[in-house]
Amino acid sequence: MAVLVTGGAGYIGSHTVIQLLNSNEDVIIVDDLSNSSIKVIDRIEELSGKRPKFYEINILEENKFKKIFEENEIESIIHFAGFKAVGESVNKPLAYYTNNLVSTLIILNTMKEYNVKNFVFSSSATVYGDPKSCPILEDFPLSTTNPYGTTKLMIENILRDICKTDKKLNVGILRYFNPVGAHKSGRIGEEPNGIPNNLMPYITKVAIGKLEKLSIFGDDYATHDGTGVRDYIHVEDLAAGHLKTLTKLRNNSGLVTYNLGTGKGYSVLDMVKAFSKACGKEIPYSIVGRRAGDIAMCYADSNKAKKELGWEAKYDLDRMCEDSWRWQSNNPNGYED
Ligand code: NAD
Ligand code: UDP
Repeated sequence: MAVLVTGGAGYIGSHTVIQLLNSNEDVIIVDDLSNSSIKVIDRIEELSGKRPKFYEINILEENKFKKIFEENEIESIIHFAGFKAVGESVNKPLAYYTNNLVSTLIILNTMKEYNVKNFVFSSSATVYGDPKSCPILEDFPLSTTNPYGTTKLMIENILRDICKTDKKLNVGILRYFNPVGAHKSGRIGEEPNGIPNNLMPYITKVAIGKLEKLSIFGDDYATHDGTGVRDYIHVEDLAAGHLKTLTKLRNNSGLVTYNLGTGKGYSVLDMVKAFSKACGKEIPYSIVGRRAGDIAMCYADSNKAKKELGWEAKYDLDRMCEDSWRWQSNNPNGYED
């Protein structure tokens, strides 16, 4: 009986796969490598001592995807695959709706056909829109401001609907806050295509000398230093949350929804300072105007996950920065080295 990990060659997926293999799970990865490298599979083997079965398939190719279920006994699915760049989703909404929604529908229909009952879904704090207050609780109102976020909310709604009619289905909706960091070995990590949109990979590219300086998007927010505040969480903590959720689902939980964050909010300037300490270099920056669609503050209340899953983030900001830096400095060209 295997756990099928969609998008398992990607950033969060690869870290989760290693933890699953280390817990003696039988893991199968499906990934079309549209945003990842085949080398990740080698490094997963290097780090875990086990090589997961790998299907290089685009989930949208339904017949090929179904073959995975014909050839293997799938017990649970962790669904990471999807497009994730907010700005790109505004320019290419149809590509986002097609890839994120249609692939999820194909997976859910295939699960039904093959009687698979456990499904973990990568949602995002973006479904809270501009939250009324922080920390954010799971029952806060949901809304979105861009097509990427809308795909996440639509999928959440689909999952809530299907769980109403199929009482044997166990679904974990995990709302990630801001994943950063990398495996402690420095062998796998985040490698965005082109110029990064997210703060941490942008800072690491400045530190390595690939980008000149960081632009800080606004210093006039109602936060402790005027720059935007987010809940950065180590990718290893996030990965651990998936294993805990899987255990919960296997006990017939039905539908469960959890915030995965640390509960701490750090500003952009806090991040620059912490990263400078980790890499031993100044990070040059300038303050520019606000980025359209940004919110001032976003951090989680993750007590529900603590209470119901026994999960809690362990790694602090210094460790997140040290691990991000180790990955970036050991792999200045990502997986191309
Ligand atoms: P990632 O891009 O590194 O990983 C996603 C993987 O899915 C990639 O390896 C890509 O090649 C694959 N993929 C995409 N479409 C596919 C398809 N149709 N068929 C097969 N494979 C496909 O992204 P990540 O950062 O690891 O994020 C994983 C999930 O978590 C995504 O759903 C993302 O939206 C969600 N999420 C990410 C963040 C973040 O900041 N990284 C925050 C919240 C939620
Ligand atoms: N940010 C920034 N410069 C950048 C990228 C991000 O100042 O080049 C800020 C952004 O305005 C926000 C925070 O860093 O306050 C986190 O942004 P990111 O895109 O990483 O995450 P999200 O906004 O999706 O939570």
